[in-house]
Amino acid sequence: MRFFDPHIHVTSRTTDDLESMARSGVRAVIEPAFWVGQPRTSVGTFVDYFASLIGWERFRAAQFGIRHYCAIGLNSKEANDEGLAREVIELLPRFALKEGVVAVGEIGFDEITPAEERAYVAQLRLAVEHEMVVMVHSPHRDKKRGIERSIELARDVGVPMERLVIDHNNEETVRLTLESGAWAAFTIYPHTKMGSERMVAVVEEYGPERIIVDSSADWGVSDPLAVPRTARLMLERGLAPETVRLTTWQNALDAYAQSGQIDEDELLAAPSIDQTRLFADNSVLRGQEPRVETPVPN
Ligand SMILES: [Zn+2]
Repeated sequence: MRFFDPHIHVTSRTTDDLESMARSGVRAVIEPAFWVGQPRTSVGTFVDYFASLIGWERFRAAQFGIRHYCAIGLNSKEANDEGLAREVIELLPRFALKEGVVAVGEIGFDEITPAEERAYVAQLRLAVEHEMVVMVHSPHRDKKRGIERSIELARDVGVPMERLVIDHNNEETVRLTLESGAWAAFTIYPHTKMGSERMVAVVEEYGPERIIVDSSADWGVSDPLAVPRTARLMLERGLAPETVRLTTWQNALDAYAQSGQIDEDELLAAPSIDQTRLFADNSVLRGQEPRVETPVPN
Protein backbone atom coordinates (compact mmCIF):
# COMPACT_ATOMS: atom_id res chain seq x y z
CA MET A 1 0.00 0.00 0.00
CA ARG A 2 1.04 3.59 -0.47
CA PHE A 3 0.51 6.29 2.13
CA PHE A 4 0.36 10.07 2.25
CA ASP A 5 1.29 11.65 5.59
CA PRO A 6 -0.12 15.16 5.19
CA HIS A 7 1.30 16.56 8.43
CA ILE A 8 4.84 15.76 9.52
CA HIS A 9 7.76 17.97 10.56
CA VAL A 10 10.48 16.20 8.64
CA THR A 11 13.08 18.79 9.52
CA SER A 12 13.11 17.27 13.03
CA ARG A 13 13.44 13.68 11.80
CA THR A 14 16.49 11.68 10.82
CA THR A 15 17.40 9.87 7.61
CA ASP A 16 16.62 6.59 9.46
CA ASP A 17 13.05 7.85 9.79
CA LEU A 18 12.89 8.76 6.11
CA GLU A 19 14.18 5.30 5.20
CA SER A 20 11.65 3.48 7.36
CA MET A 21 8.83 5.73 6.15
CA ALA A 22 9.69 4.92 2.53
CA ARG A 23 9.99 1.22 3.36
CA SER A 24 6.54 1.30 5.01
CA GLY A 25 4.98 2.83 1.91
CA VAL A 26 4.93 6.55 2.78
CA ARG A 27 5.23 8.08 -0.68
CA ALA A 28 4.36 11.70 -0.01
CA VAL A 29 4.36 14.10 2.93
CA ILE A 30 3.32 17.64 3.73
CA GLU A 31 5.51 19.58 6.11
CA PRO A 32 3.66 22.55 7.57
CA ALA A 33 5.63 25.43 9.03
CA PHE A 34 5.33 25.47 12.80
CA TRP A 35 6.92 26.28 16.12
CA VAL A 36 10.45 24.93 16.55
CA GLY A 37 10.30 24.32 20.31
CA GLN A 38 11.57 27.68 21.50
CA PRO A 39 10.47 31.12 20.38
CA ARG A 40 12.32 32.70 17.48
CA THR A 41 13.52 36.22 18.11
CA SER A 42 13.92 37.71 14.64
CA VAL A 43 12.25 37.52 11.28
CA GLY A 44 15.42 36.30 9.60
CA THR A 45 15.09 32.91 11.29
CA PHE A 46 11.68 32.53 9.64
CA VAL A 47 13.17 33.42 6.25
CA ASP A 48 15.73 30.63 6.60
CA TYR A 49 13.20 28.17 8.02
CA PHE A 50 10.69 28.70 5.20
CA ALA A 51 13.52 28.46 2.66
CA SER A 52 14.60 25.12 4.14
CA LEU A 53 11.07 23.72 3.82
CA ILE A 54 10.99 24.36 0.09
CA GLY A 55 14.67 23.64 -0.42
CA TRP A 56 16.82 21.31 1.64
CA GLU A 57 13.99 19.34 3.27
CA ARG A 58 12.33 18.70 -0.09
CA PHE A 59 15.66 17.49 -1.46
CA ARG A 60 16.39 15.33 1.60
CA ALA A 61 13.02 13.53 1.44
CA ALA A 62 13.43 12.97 -2.31
CA GLN A 63 16.77 11.30 -1.66
CA PHE A 64 14.77 8.50 -0.03
CA GLY A 65 11.97 8.38 -2.60
CA ILE A 66 9.48 10.53 -0.68
CA ARG A 67 7.73 13.46 -2.39
CA HIS A 68 7.80 16.43 -0.01
CA TYR A 69 5.30 19.29 -0.14
CA CYS A 70 4.96 22.00 2.45
CA ALA A 71 2.59 24.55 3.96
CA ILE A 72 3.75 28.04 4.85
CA GLY A 73 2.35 30.08 7.72
CA LEU A 74 2.88 31.64 11.11
CA ASN A 75 2.02 29.19 13.90
CA SER A 76 -0.39 30.20 16.64
CA LYS A 77 2.12 30.12 19.49
CA GLU A 78 4.44 32.68 17.93
CA ALA A 79 1.50 34.80 16.81
CA ASN A 80 1.50 36.08 20.38
CA ASP A 81 4.75 37.98 19.80
CA GLU A 82 2.86 40.58 17.84
CA GLY A 83 5.73 42.74 16.63
CA LEU A 84 7.50 39.74 15.13
CA ALA A 85 4.20 38.26 13.94
CA ARG A 86 3.53 41.31 11.79
CA GLU A 87 6.92 40.99 10.13
CA VAL A 88 6.43 37.27 9.48
CA ILE A 89 2.95 37.79 8.02
CA GLU A 90 4.37 40.39 5.64
CA LEU A 91 6.95 37.86 4.56
CA LEU A 92 4.50 35.03 3.83
CA PRO A 93 3.53 35.81 0.20
CA ARG A 94 7.19 35.54 -0.76
CA PHE A 95 7.14 31.83 0.19
CA ALA A 96 3.48 30.75 0.16
CA LEU A 97 3.18 31.12 -3.61
CA LYS A 98 6.19 29.01 -4.48
CA GLU A 99 6.07 25.66 -6.25
CA GLY A 100 5.26 22.70 -4.01
CA VAL A 101 3.54 24.82 -1.35
CA VAL A 102 0.11 23.22 -1.00
CA ALA A 103 -1.46 25.30 1.80
CA VAL A 104 -1.26 28.15 4.23
CA GLY A 105 -0.48 26.42 7.52
CA GLU A 106 -0.38 25.32 10.11
CA ILE A 107 -2.27 28.26 11.53
CA GLY A 108 -5.03 28.67 14.10
CA PHE A 109 -5.24 28.79 17.88
CA ASP A 110 -3.05 27.77 20.78
CA GLU A 111 -4.26 29.68 23.85
CA ILE A 112 -7.12 31.32 21.90
CA THR A 113 -5.85 34.88 22.43
CA PRO A 114 -6.80 38.05 20.51
CA ALA A 115 -3.28 38.16 19.01
CA GLU A 116 -3.67 34.60 17.71
CA GLU A 117 -7.00 35.55 16.21
CA ARG A 118 -5.50 38.56 14.41
CA ALA A 119 -2.69 36.47 12.90
CA TYR A 120 -5.12 33.71 11.92
CA VAL A 121 -7.50 36.12 10.18
CA ALA A 122 -4.66 37.86 8.31
CA GLN A 123 -3.50 34.49 7.02
CA LEU A 124 -7.03 33.38 6.09
CA ARG A 125 -7.22 36.52 3.97
CA LEU A 126 -3.97 35.59 2.25
CA ALA A 127 -5.42 32.13 1.51
CA VAL A 128 -8.63 33.59 0.10
CA GLU A 129 -6.74 36.08 -2.03
CA HIS A 130 -4.64 33.33 -3.62
CA GLU A 131 -7.31 30.57 -3.53
CA MET A 132 -5.17 28.42 -1.25
CA VAL A 133 -6.01 25.50 1.01
CA VAL A 134 -5.77 26.21 4.77
CA MET A 135 -4.32 23.77 7.29
CA VAL A 136 -5.62 24.56 10.76
CA HIS A 137 -3.89 23.52 13.98
CA SER A 138 -6.44 23.10 16.77
CA PRO A 139 -5.51 23.81 20.40
CA HIS A 140 -4.76 20.96 22.76
CA ARG A 141 -6.64 22.73 25.56
CA ASP A 142 -10.17 23.95 24.95
CA LYS A 143 -10.08 22.18 21.61
CA LYS A 144 -13.79 22.33 20.86
CA ARG A 145 -14.03 26.07 21.37
CA GLY A 146 -10.85 26.57 19.31
CA ILE A 147 -12.25 24.57 16.40
CA GLU A 148 -15.62 26.31 16.54
CA ARG A 149 -13.93 29.69 16.42
CA SER A 150 -11.51 28.57 13.65
CA ILE A 151 -14.40 27.46 11.45
CA GLU A 152 -16.47 30.55 12.20
CA LEU A 153 -13.63 32.92 11.28
CA ALA A 154 -12.76 30.97 8.12
CA ARG A 155 -16.40 31.27 7.06
CA ASP A 156 -16.47 35.00 7.83
CA VAL A 157 -13.33 35.62 5.78
CA GLY A 158 -14.75 33.59 2.89
CA VAL A 159 -12.64 30.41 2.85
CA PRO A 160 -14.66 27.75 1.02
CA MET A 161 -15.21 24.90 3.51
CA GLU A 162 -13.81 22.34 1.06
CA ARG A 163 -10.49 24.18 1.22
CA LEU A 164 -10.33 24.06 5.02
CA VAL A 165 -8.53 21.19 6.80
CA ILE A 166 -8.98 21.12 10.57
CA ASP A 167 -6.28 19.05 12.24
CA HIS A 168 -5.82 17.36 15.63
CA ASN A 169 -9.50 16.39 15.88
CA ASN A 170 -10.81 13.90 18.44
CA GLU A 171 -14.12 12.19 19.21
CA GLU A 172 -15.45 15.36 20.76
CA THR A 173 -14.85 17.52 17.70
CA VAL A 174 -15.18 15.21 14.69
CA ARG A 175 -18.91 15.76 14.18
CA LEU A 176 -18.59 19.52 14.45
CA THR A 177 -15.77 19.56 11.88
CA LEU A 178 -17.49 17.24 9.41
CA GLU A 179 -20.80 19.09 9.68
CA SER A 180 -19.07 22.35 8.76
CA GLY A 181 -18.03 20.84 5.43
CA ALA A 182 -14.30 21.01 6.28
CA TRP A 183 -11.88 18.06 6.16
CA ALA A 184 -11.29 16.39 9.53
CA ALA A 185 -7.67 15.39 10.08
CA PHE A 186 -6.53 13.32 13.05
CA THR A 187 -3.07 13.18 14.53
CA ILE A 188 -2.04 9.83 15.95
CA TYR A 189 -0.01 10.46 19.08
CA PRO A 190 1.78 7.33 20.35
CA HIS A 191 0.98 6.21 23.92
CA THR A 192 -1.84 8.75 24.34
CA LYS A 193 -5.55 9.09 24.13
CA MET A 194 -5.56 9.75 20.37
CA GLY A 195 -3.82 6.55 19.32
CA SER A 196 -4.47 4.19 16.42
CA GLU A 197 -7.08 2.24 18.39
CA ARG A 198 -9.29 5.26 18.80
CA MET A 199 -8.73 6.28 15.20
CA VAL A 200 -10.12 2.93 14.06
CA ALA A 201 -13.21 3.51 16.21
CA VAL A 202 -13.73 6.99 14.73
CA VAL A 203 -13.55 5.65 11.17
CA GLU A 204 -15.90 2.79 12.09
CA GLU A 205 -18.41 5.30 13.40
CA TYR A 206 -18.14 8.12 10.85
CA GLY A 207 -16.93 6.35 7.72
CA PRO A 208 -14.03 7.51 5.56
CA GLU A 209 -15.49 10.60 3.92
CA ARG A 210 -13.31 13.72 4.50
CA ILE A 211 -11.35 11.96 7.27
CA ILE A 212 -7.56 12.17 7.10
CA VAL A 213 -4.96 10.39 9.26
CA ASP A 214 -1.57 12.00 9.93
CA SER A 215 1.41 11.67 12.27
CA SER A 216 2.35 15.30 13.05
CA ALA A 217 5.68 13.73 13.97
CA ASP A 218 8.13 16.39 15.12
CA TRP A 219 10.89 16.93 17.68
CA GLY A 220 8.71 15.59 20.49
CA VAL A 221 7.63 12.03 21.31
CA SER A 222 5.90 11.10 18.08
CA ASP A 223 5.80 8.39 15.42
CA PRO A 224 6.73 9.01 11.78
CA LEU A 225 5.13 5.64 10.94
CA ALA A 226 1.77 6.51 12.52
CA VAL A 227 -0.06 6.50 9.18
CA PRO A 228 1.04 3.04 7.97
CA ARG A 229 0.64 1.62 11.48
CA THR A 230 -2.93 2.92 11.74
CA ALA A 231 -3.70 1.58 8.26
CA ARG A 232 -2.49 -1.85 9.31
CA LEU A 233 -4.67 -1.78 12.43
CA MET A 234 -7.71 -0.70 10.39
CA LEU A 235 -7.22 -3.68 8.09
CA GLU A 236 -6.72 -6.05 11.04
CA ARG A 237 -9.98 -4.78 12.53
CA GLY A 238 -11.77 -5.64 9.30
CA LEU A 239 -12.26 -2.18 7.81
CA ALA A 240 -12.62 -2.20 4.04
CA PRO A 241 -9.36 -1.68 2.13
CA GLU A 242 -11.07 1.19 0.28
CA THR A 243 -11.78 2.91 3.62
CA VAL A 244 -8.12 2.58 4.54
CA ARG A 245 -7.01 3.91 1.14
CA LEU A 246 -9.26 6.95 1.47
CA THR A 247 -8.21 7.90 5.00
CA THR A 248 -4.48 7.27 4.56
CA TRP A 249 -3.94 8.36 0.96
CA GLN A 250 -6.70 9.66 -1.27
CA ASN A 251 -8.51 12.14 1.00
CA ALA A 252 -5.32 14.04 1.80
CA LEU A 253 -4.47 14.05 -1.86
CA ASP A 254 -7.91 15.36 -2.84
CA ALA A 255 -7.84 18.05 -0.16
CA TYR A 256 -4.38 19.39 -0.96
CA ALA A 257 -4.45 18.81 -4.73
CA GLN A 258 -6.90 21.72 -4.77
CA SER A 259 -3.73 23.82 -4.56
CA GLY A 260 -2.86 22.79 -8.11
CA GLN A 261 0.61 21.88 -6.78
CA ILE A 262 0.27 18.09 -6.68
CA ASP A 263 0.73 15.97 -9.78
CA GLU A 264 -1.20 12.79 -8.95
CA ASP A 265 0.21 10.79 -11.88
CA GLU A 266 3.72 11.59 -10.74
CA LEU A 267 2.85 10.35 -7.23
CA LEU A 268 1.36 7.12 -8.55
CA ALA A 269 4.51 6.34 -10.54
CA ALA A 270 7.24 4.45 -8.70
CA PRO A 271 9.63 6.94 -7.07
CA SER A 272 13.06 7.45 -8.56
CA ILE A 273 16.00 7.92 -6.24
CA ASP A 274 19.30 9.49 -7.20
CA GLN A 275 21.66 9.95 -4.29
CA THR A 276 24.42 11.19 -6.55
CA ARG A 277 22.54 14.50 -6.65
CA LEU A 278 23.59 17.42 -4.51
CA PHE A 279 21.71 20.36 -3.04
CA ALA A 280 23.84 23.51 -2.89
CA ASP A 281 26.88 21.23 -2.95
CA ASN A 282 25.55 19.14 -0.06
CA SER A 283 24.75 15.44 -0.01
CA VAL A 284 22.84 13.38 2.56
CA LEU A 285 25.59 10.79 2.34
CA ARG A 286 28.69 10.47 4.52
CA GLY A 287 30.82 8.34 2.24
CA GLN A 288 28.15 5.69 1.60
CA GLU A 289 27.55 4.24 -1.84
CA PRO A 290 24.82 6.39 -3.49
CA ARG A 291 21.55 4.61 -4.28
CA VAL A 292 20.31 5.23 -7.80
CA GLU A 293 16.92 3.70 -8.62
CA THR A 294 15.06 4.54 -11.76
CA PRO A 295 11.54 3.14 -11.90
CA VAL A 296 10.82 0.57 -14.58
CA PRO A 297 8.06 1.96 -16.83
CA ASN A 298 5.04 -0.34 -16.98
ZN1 LIG B 1 2.31 20.28 13.34
